[in-house]
Amino acid sequence: MNEFSLIDTYFKNPAIKRNDVVFGIGDDAACVQVPIGKQLLVSTDTLVADVHFLQTWDAYDIAFKAVMVNVSDIAAMGGEPCWLSLALTLPTLDQTWLARFSQGLFVALQQYNITLIGGDTTRGPLSMTLTIHGLVEQGKAVRRNGARPGDVIMVSGELGAAALAVSLLHGSTVPQQDNALLLDKLKHPHPRIDLAALLSSYASAAIDISDGLSADLNHICRQSQVSALLNLAAIPVHPLVSKYKHADAIHFALSGGDDYEVCFTLPAAQQEIFMQHLSLQGLHCYPIGTIAAGEGLWISADDGSMMPLTPCGYNHFQESKDE
Ligand code: ADP
Ligand code: MG
Repeated sequence: MNEFSLIDTYFKNPAIKRNDVVFGIGDDAACVQVPIGKQLLVSTDTLVADVHFLQTWDAYDIAFKAVMVNVSDIAAMGGEPCWLSLALTLPTLDQTWLARFSQGLFVALQQYNITLIGGDTTRGPLSMTLTIHGLVEQGKAVRRNGARPGDVIMVSGELGAAALAVSLLHGSTVPQQDNALLLDKLKHPHPRIDLAALLSSYASAAIDISDGLSADLNHICRQSQVSALLNLAAIPVHPLVSKYKHADAIHFALSGGDDYEVCFTLPAAQQEIFMQHLSLQGLHCYPIGTIAAGEGLWISADDGSMMPLTPCGYNHFQESKDE
């Protein structure tokens, strides 16, 4: 098997066919049709072995997660994911591994009707770079710079479970059943595409939580030139994190990465209608604070006073996670 038969065997999948793909894999470039009235969103994420996943993981899970973290970026922008390209670097041509990788890849792509339109295949240390392309209504992409004083800060789900799962990879232990649940949270994130249309209609700013709530909310604050006042008691901590981390649980929720929930802001006047639409769809989000003038992150202490919160989350070029 060579590079070309590898691509034919594992990456050409006629099952997911979109009408807007003029042509995909096989030419020097793919060609897609962007409908009138829509704009193109483009986002790239790299996953490196033993940084973003363990080389020993089932290749199905590696591919699945790689797709989901890319889809999450489109969700946070309020868009619809449509097309993917995949640059894959493999240490060896291992057909068993490739078959599993291809299965996980296409199961993930099928969930969101995304077509793989091209890529590149090279030899080297295991890593992959995915570029996802999505569509959003003209002028309706949700950016990080739109938060305004008085906006409500929302988060789309319970936080901290993926970070707890990472601690299990580093040697902490919990009983088997919870261990499986936590690793599932880490390996199979659910990007919040279910919220994308509502975000596009109502949110003033949004970001997906890949590095940690405080670090990611800080990006919104800096780019919007505002501050965030968080209500400690309102932060939704995943129940397994509370169960095992007790007083430390809030730290996991505030600074743990990899949950792929969305943190977003809503003008206060839109909160009620947003919540109504949300519950009509059987969904729930959590108000966790408000945006104010000024800068920085602040969190309510037990006595009701506000303390500064140092943004903290995963940073590839920082020696320790705790700085
Ligand atoms: P080029 O030499 O022009 O870069 P390649 O020989 O690398 O083209 O790739 C041949 C075709 O296969 C191209 O259309 C490319 O987009 C596609 N392709 C290569 N690797 C992958 C991959 N891992 N997944 C999907 N498509 C791929
Ligand atoms: Mg090439």
